[in-house]
Amino acid sequence: MTLRLRPHHVLCSIGFEGSGYDGPFIANMRHIVTQVLRGPGGRDQRIWISDTADAICAPCPKRVGLGCESQDKIDRFDRDHAEALDLTPGQALSWGECHDRAVARVVPADLDRICAGCEWLPLGICKTRLAAAIAAQPGMEKGRPGEETAPNETPVV
Ligand code: SF4
Repeated sequence: MTLRLRPHHVLCSIGFEGSGYDGPFIANMRHIVTQVLRGPGGRDQRIWISDTADAICAPCPKRVGLGCESQDKIDRFDRDHAEALDLTPGQALSWGECHDRAVARVVPADLDRICAGCEWLPLGICKTRLAAAIAAQPGMEKGRPGEETAPNETPVV
């Protein structure tokens, strides 16, 4: 079954370690991230890029229909993350392709700009997990050209 994801939820899913708005939101996101995307065959999971509420938003206490109480902020996240990952609403691709775009195109310091205003950004979890995903890519042991810190060294948090 195809999973509907809005652009900024690609990096949120890579960074997820259990934080969320409330119990039902966390339980749903934990299932999607740990059982589906990080589970067996997760890279082959089909993703449909959405510009409205998605599978992760479904039980969110801030969801209003297909919108959000914080619509302006969410629209900004989606716009900036879509640009960073070269994603377009209506696009269909695999989770592996989403994940690989993120680790190829985004470095942890980029989150300070594209995630500005997110309550979980100051925790540093998303930067740490993104850095680990980048470091896990073949040939990335010494980091990318222009990076001040190799991603397999102490991550910037
Ligand atoms: S900092 Fe917030 S918006 Fe950015 S990836 Fe993490 S949870 Fe998502």
